[in-house]
Amino acid sequence: MTSLDSAAYTYEAPASAELFARGQQITPGGVNSPVRAFRAVGGTPRFMAEGSGPWLTDADGRRYVDLVSSWGPLLLGHAHPAVVEAVTAAARRGLSFGAPTEGELDLAEEIRDRMAPVEKVRLVNSGTEAVLSAVRLARGATGRPLIVKFAGHYHGHVDALLASAGSGVMTLGLPDTPGVTTGAAADTVVLPYNDVAAVEAVFAERGSEIACVISEAAAGNMGVVPPLDGFNAQLRRITAAAGALLVLDEVMTGFRVSRSGWYGLDPVDADLFTFGKVMGGGLPAAAFGGRADLMDQLAPLGPVYQAGTLSGNPVAVAAGLATLRNCTDEVYAYCDQVAAVLRGAASAALFAAGVPHRVQQAGSMFSVFFVPDERQVRDYDDARTQDVARYTAFFHALLARGVYLPPSAFEAWFVNAALSGEALDRVLEALPAAARAAAEVPA
Ligand SMILES: *Cc1c(COP(=O)(O)O)cnc(C)c1O
Repeated sequence: MTSLDSAAYTYEAPASAELFARGQQITPGGVNSPVRAFRAVGGTPRFMAEGSGPWLTDADGRRYVDLVSSWGPLLLGHAHPAVVEAVTAAARRGLSFGAPTEGELDLAEEIRDRMAPVEKVRLVNSGTEAVLSAVRLARGATGRPLIVKFAGHYHGHVDALLASAGSGVMTLGLPDTPGVTTGAAADTVVLPYNDVAAVEAVFAERGSEIACVISEAAAGNMGVVPPLDGFNAQLRRITAAAGALLVLDEVMTGFRVSRSGWYGLDPVDADLFTFGKVMGGGLPAAAFGGRADLMDQLAPLGPVYQAGTLSGNPVAVAAGLATLRNCTDEVYAYCDQVAAVLRGAASAALFAAGVPHRVQQAGSMFSVFFVPDERQVRDYDDARTQDVARYTAFFHALLARGVYLPPSAFEAWFVNAALSGEALDRVLEALPAAARAAAEVPA
């Protein structure tokens, strides 16, 4: 039952298979974002028809407990009544005005109230856009060209940040996708994560050219790899000493791992923060914000241009605001609790089946690394020692039992506050069989 032959998985989802075939005719790979295509795990990506609370229903009418939560945004679960109500009411008032609205201020103020270092906020439509705007602002404000990023960190598909040229100290960025020019990547320095000495070294050599260091506040796009104790604070110290800016990317962690995101767990005052996912409540809304003197360098006050036809869209803003207003202390406490239950159960099941693994967390975000030596995963090189074939077997065994995990070993698991009762029981009951399926994969 744990065949890795991907064809073995396709028969279970005939309606999805048909839609996927149709999709491949009209859109590259049949999907609008690559990981959705299940390339890393094989088989037929499930086309989804409905979501409610912790549940997803696919085109074949099968229900799954969702541990992806739309890759993070749905901290309250699918179609939360207050969010749906707010969106519906906003839509009735008009879909877009191309003029300012009060709701945008409410959302920006909600973000500022949760994030002490954020004095001013600008709304955009995606995390990618938030990051590219923040990086442009950092370069504009400092008059410097270089960006320092960490291998394995994802900041959206921003040209300059798609460079991840291995983990060598002070490796100069080389584009890792066609379509990004050497020029665009040459101003990016990629360093190994959690390596303060590497950061010190690049600053010693090129500090006066560095506009900013950008780091995921806690890395979640190579699996969950939190910063080592004090790492973000060291980034703060090193950047400040060199007149460079610190940009902490909280698109994934923001308003998810605490009411103030990673900042709430590890309060480091970055100059700029980027947000997305939870703050859009499932609609396209994102933001960046930080010190007022920096933010005021944006047009129309300052010279750094940044704009958007749909930025601050009233329907998206309504979804985000309703989501944040319902993300109470109780919601965060519950998500922490349910994540702890799942981490414990996953680890116990894998231990019982004799599968080497390591569970890592950043607040309620976590992931299971199938690392043969059970090493602590501190950076991208560690993450890549995973046995992905084991994850594939684990993933498909859960999918077959109605549990929807991220279709890649290098992604975080995202809980939501609706995950309880029958849905939670289903996951707990499915884990031992999934662990045994992982154990059957030859090492
Ligand atoms: C998801 C993500 C982005 C990109 O956001 P999109 O809305 O997909 O463009 C940027 N940074 C981090 C840390 C993310 O997790």
